[in-house]
Amino acid sequence: MRHVAIVGSGPAGYYTAETLQKAEDIAVDVIDRLPVPYGLIRTGVAPDHQSIKAVSRRYEGTALTDNVRFVGHVSVGTDVTIDELVGLYDAVVLATGAPNDRPLDIPGADLAGVIGSAAFVGWYNGHPDFADLDPPLDAPGVAVIGNGNVALDVARILAKTPGEFAGSDIVAHARTALEASAVRHIQILGRRGPHQIAMTPKELGELGHLERASPRVDPADLPPEGDDAMLEPGMRKSVTHLRSFTANPVAKPVTIDFDFFAMPVAIEGDGRVQRVIVERTTLDADLRSHGTGETYAVDAGLVVSCIGYQTPPIPGVPYEHGRGRFASDEGRILPGLYAVGWARRGPSGTIGTNKPDGARIGEMVIDDIGRGAGKAGRAGLDALLASRNVTPVTFRDWRRIEAAEVKAALDGNPREKFTSIEAMLGAIGR
Ligand code: NAP
Repeated sequence: MRHVAIVGSGPAGYYTAETLQKAEDIAVDVIDRLPVPYGLIRTGVAPDHQSIKAVSRRYEGTALTDNVRFVGHVSVGTDVTIDELVGLYDAVVLATGAPNDRPLDIPGADLAGVIGSAAFVGWYNGHPDFADLDPPLDAPGVAVIGNGNVALDVARILAKTPGEFAGSDIVAHARTALEASAVRHIQILGRRGPHQIAMTPKELGELGHLERASPRVDPADLPPEGDDAMLEPGMRKSVTHLRSFTANPVAKPVTIDFDFFAMPVAIEGDGRVQRVIVERTTLDADLRSHGTGETYAVDAGLVVSCIGYQTPPIPGVPYEHGRGRFASDEGRILPGLYAVGWARRGPSGTIGTNKPDGARIGEMVIDDIGRGAGKAGRAGLDALLASRNVTPVTFRDWRRIEAAEVKAALDGNPREKFTSIEAMLGAIGR
């Protein structure tokens, strides 16, 4: 038998496992720090996007194949080191994603109420690391920084009514907090223009159908309509949505204002955020933004910075600091050590982008390891963990946790997620 460990049980991890298990003589251990699998599907994809989350059924199919095993609640770096894994397995694949926020490097970014999207998204999705975030929703203004799909997710979740979360798996603490929210003005700050957004048409279109919120765009920010012809079709559709938002009257109680050519330069407040100082920008010939010197203030009791993510470095593993990902040659980091998904490419692309990536890295590993080196594999890991009194959560355990979550679901929702590791373990009697 050949042995491969995958660190991270999100999309990139399971797509890689899916390819590896086809080889039939490869035992694959998918290791995760949490007792629950699926990474970004569970804790990143918006709770009201259940059709995207449904892809986890495919990962379950892989997890239930003979040679694939889920090893949950095992922290690589604490319970076992990368070097130990490389010693035990023919290959180790880092599928650790990019769970850290890119830092918002402006004065005042450390004020209370300035939150990165990883934390905010993790909070409404029940990630145990962020269950206690308690974001301030007591002021009417919120500034959302960034012009990507995560900014749209955050704005939409802040704008929805309780009824609009029916059928979602938003967690109870977020549902309750949002129900009591005083938020009325959501300002999405983009440092460049409508033709430079990183927002996809389906996600933008959703904003046009919210029950109590109207998206608005200042027509003066839009380039002449004829210029849209040079955009690629998806982008053209997105810009068409933005054009439709210029016609919105302020009929609904919540507004979502797209503020383009708007670069946050400072955050101010007395002990907590009260306003964002924004500088107007202009674009150069290479479409880079530059400040014009003209500034204004946006009132906000909460700032959510949605400016992209980074992979946390692991001591001893080569890392590209500028790009926030492991340094690799197309996925090969060091002999026996690989990266896949966001940990390899950086944080861009949809869930589906990880499918060909996982397949490619899976095939690369199969080729590279040849017949295998007779390593100890999972028996070796089990012995090591047992010697450290670490008892992994199995896939069967996870299914019991999941059953308890489904049982606890409120009217029509698919599940009520446990938001602490203790509660997850409690569901399996630990
Ligand atoms: P993203 O698409 O890379 O967007 C980041 C945004 O932040 C860009 O508009 C960028 O502007 C802006 N930005 C970066 N640094 C900034 C700074 N210092 N100040 C102000 N603005 C700054 O990242 P994301 O929204 O986190 O999304 C990550 C990936 O997940 C994307 O591929 C996204 O499509 C995907 N995703 C998909 C879905 C979905 O399909 N439903 C949902 C969520 C996320 P510039 O362009 O000027 O750099």
